[in-house]
Amino acid sequence: MSPKTAEKDWVNIIFLSLTPIIGVFGTAAWTMTHGFHWWMPALCAVLYLFVGMSICAGYHRFFSHKSYEASAPVQIFFAIFGALAAENSILWWSASHRVHHKHVDHDWDPYNIQRGFWWAHILWIFYRNPAGGNFDNSPDLVKNPIVMWQYKWHKVLLIVVGFGVPTLIGWALGDAMAGLLWGGFLRIAVIHHTTFFVNSLAHQLGKPLYNAEVSARDNWVVALLTLGEGYHSFHHRFPADFRNGIRWYHWDPAKWFISGLKSVGLASDLRTTAEPQIEQARMSAALRVVEEQLEKAEGSMGEEIRRRVNQAVRHLETALKLWRQHAEERAEGVSREWRATRRRAFRHVRQSRRQWKSALRALEQMPA
Ligand SMILES: [Zn+2]
Ligand SMILES: [Zn+2]
Repeated sequence: MSPKTAEKDWVNIIFLSLTPIIGVFGTAAWTMTHGFHWWMPALCAVLYLFVGMSICAGYHRFFSHKSYEASAPVQIFFAIFGALAAENSILWWSASHRVHHKHVDHDWDPYNIQRGFWWAHILWIFYRNPAGGNFDNSPDLVKNPIVMWQYKWHKVLLIVVGFGVPTLIGWALGDAMAGLLWGGFLRIAVIHHTTFFVNSLAHQLGKPLYNAEVSARDNWVVALLTLGEGYHSFHHRFPADFRNGIRWYHWDPAKWFISGLKSVGLASDLRTTAEPQIEQARMSAALRVVEEQLEKAEGSMGEEIRRRVNQAVRHLETALKLWRQHAEERAEGVSREWRATRRRAFRHVRQSRRQWKSALRALEQMPA
């Protein structure tokens, strides 16, 4: 269905147009004429963190992808603060997001980047989604009483808590309107557009490190803007992993928040992808781009390049075997052997990377 024939959603159009105007210009005008206090940006920032985290770690990584188990109090926190993002209910959001993953870059993808940056960013919300309200792909969520409670009350939560509470806090601190503008409108505009960047920028800007066939990209700048959701190529390749940025230095506050929940006993079963599998995806994505060149490379140099690629593949096979062995040893829990086995697996991963990267370098140097 083309956007021209789809039915426009005027409530969404008006809400999404007015919130940034009131949020940015209204807040600026009011603050300039009525005075600035530090509690105003602080209120906006704290609410942004609570609500943003409920979208990233809650709506996205827990409800949509089940990448860990969250306790009931945590789920209730996500349900309440997530509703304040004005991004619809958990059920609606997650069902659409699962469709996005299943049909990425194709017609059924609600925020299909092939229709352009602005479509993926915001225009898709201006039209009624033909598949919207169909929850066949989310039987697990339909069974969850917290999700169904939030489905019924999310609009009330948005109005009463999302706009009412910051107004009340502002009133207590001497300026109710400033509370509403900073903690309500401006905060919603910021949450909206940072979340929307995941559907637009993260499908356009950066490198398709883990899957060259889909538009999802890894980009640390987008990660900075989105509480860690910018490592989107990895996420589309391994959506069940609770992390998006897998290295310790990758900016991913949602991953740190989930680890923090685990350390205080509020989350469990954090799912991660085996390191050799990650390397395998990365190598395949890199080789996929030069597939033809690799096949056509002639002479002894061509032979040598293909030999290195084969070596890399073999190292990864060994690494995978060792990884499975380490998981078994770890599950048995009796021996400390598993650490040594894991170290050996990592060694093979590193050797594989050296081989396929050197093969790529050699290929680049070959005359076309
Ligand atoms: Zn995506
Ligand atoms: Zn996702």
